[in-house]
Amino acid sequence: MLEPLVCELSQPDRQGVGYPPSDVPLSELPAGLTRDALPLPELSEVDVVRHFTRLSQLNYSVDTGFYPLGSCTMKYNPKINEEVARLPGFTAIHPLQPIETVQGSLALMYHLQEALKEIGGFAGMTLQPAAGAHGEMTGVLIMRAYQKDRGETQRNKILIPDSAHGTNPASSAMAGLKVVQLPSDERGNVDLDALRAECDDTLVGLMLTNPNTLGLFEEHVLEIAEIVHAAGGLLYGDGANLNALLGIARPGDLGIDVMHFNLHKTFSTPHGGGGPGSGPVGVAEHLVDFLPAPVVDIVEPAEEDIPPLYGFVTPKKSIGRVKAFHGHFSMMVRAYTYILMHGAEGLRRVAEDAVLNANYLMARLKDTYPVPYGRICKHEFVAEGKVEGAPGVRALDIAKRLLDYGFHPPTNYFPLIVHEALMIEPTETESLQTLDAFAEALLQIAEEAREDPDLLHEAPRTTPVGRLDEVKAARELVLKCEVPA
Ligand SMILES: *Cc1c(COP(=O)(O)O)cnc(C)c1O
Repeated sequence: MLEPLVCELSQPDRQGVGYPPSDVPLSELPAGLTRDALPLPELSEVDVVRHFTRLSQLNYSVDTGFYPLGSCTMKYNPKINEEVARLPGFTAIHPLQPIETVQGSLALMYHLQEALKEIGGFAGMTLQPAAGAHGEMTGVLIMRAYQKDRGETQRNKILIPDSAHGTNPASSAMAGLKVVQLPSDERGNVDLDALRAECDDTLVGLMLTNPNTLGLFEEHVLEIAEIVHAAGGLLYGDGANLNALLGIARPGDLGIDVMHFNLHKTFSTPHGGGGPGSGPVGVAEHLVDFLPAPVVDIVEPAEEDIPPLYGFVTPKKSIGRVKAFHGHFSMMVRAYTYILMHGAEGLRRVAEDAVLNANYLMARLKDTYPVPYGRICKHEFVAEGKVEGAPGVRALDIAKRLLDYGFHPPTNYFPLIVHEALMIEPTETESLQTLDAFAEALLQIAEEAREDPDLLHEAPRTTPVGRLDEVKAARELVLKCEVPA
């Protein structure tokens, strides 16, 4: 067990850095900017190193254990990505440098765009968006710009299935659209009759996640594309679940007009605390002119002995810039490294193994934890977090108890259409031994639920902090560490 954190480590005049003697005349800083006015902590180097190392030990991470957080594709982040991203030629540059001096980095962006276009089946690509949600908003703005350009200014309605990720309605609403929810049918597909009923001349389009958040392939994707297009709408693809399709099916070929990629999911760049995300957006031919500006392109073609010159171009009817400079460049380096390390065959294998692992876990668990939409899944599946003979036990209790077994819990209470949802996504990077250990922990927890449900209600017991009051934590946010009086 780790000792409780000591909050205030600062000691007056303690210092962790040594400055060389000044060789320029001293000058007064403007009032308010002086050291006295800034309550900075004063610490030695060892204090700082121990503080942050200790904090890192309180965290669960993909480097310390299995992380089956559904919808998030928490695959292992290969260390070669980090090595390449740290090359000085990539880190010691500035986005305002003349393009002649950063040709290697521009070439990388160009070739990443080309690779993502090939993988997704798209004609154009922007690397600017900072995450999936940002890509969604960018995509929706592109769809609106296209329709306005055709004089269809009355279109303001976007359809979103009830299984969708919360970012879909959020980003659409931020883009000023009216969101209409579509129900799912009993096989977990979009209800086609409900879709047809909403298709009129106010339709901007439909946001489709395929495979959807139940981990199921949308069986009517071609028909859906036809219905939406016939009504003058566009089909947005939420590409968060691309891990299931890599090298097998191309969303562009399925009729998707615009889609975001999550480099921090499918292409193994770190999530959250590990670094910023990246959500490139691919578009079909008819939307290329509306992409955010600038886009990396070849501005002078190669000649015999001279390589091409890479630079920036502004698409004709661009929606404008959506991100400062050129997006999260170091994530592009990591993703491109990942693509080259795997090659086309390797990427297909990623999808095959991700799907195999998910189906293996589903088969091991479904007799204990019911899977309401139980057909063959893709890269993830959604079980119900309830155990026969243990009526007081909820998904939350099961998730918390898993922490005591050393596993990060699956996503719970999402998607909303499954009662007490436990959404499990193992990814391709886990071994059979890890999958078995996880399945056995969940089966053991089901036994405990029947025999000693309080063990679950009181979980977790072995983690640095126990069960939190999540509502209180959200309502009374305390971000400052304070030693109790
Ligand atoms: C993760 C996710 C998103 C949002 O992506 P972020 O990169 O987290 O903004 C959207 N849709 C689905 C299905 C997701 O899993």
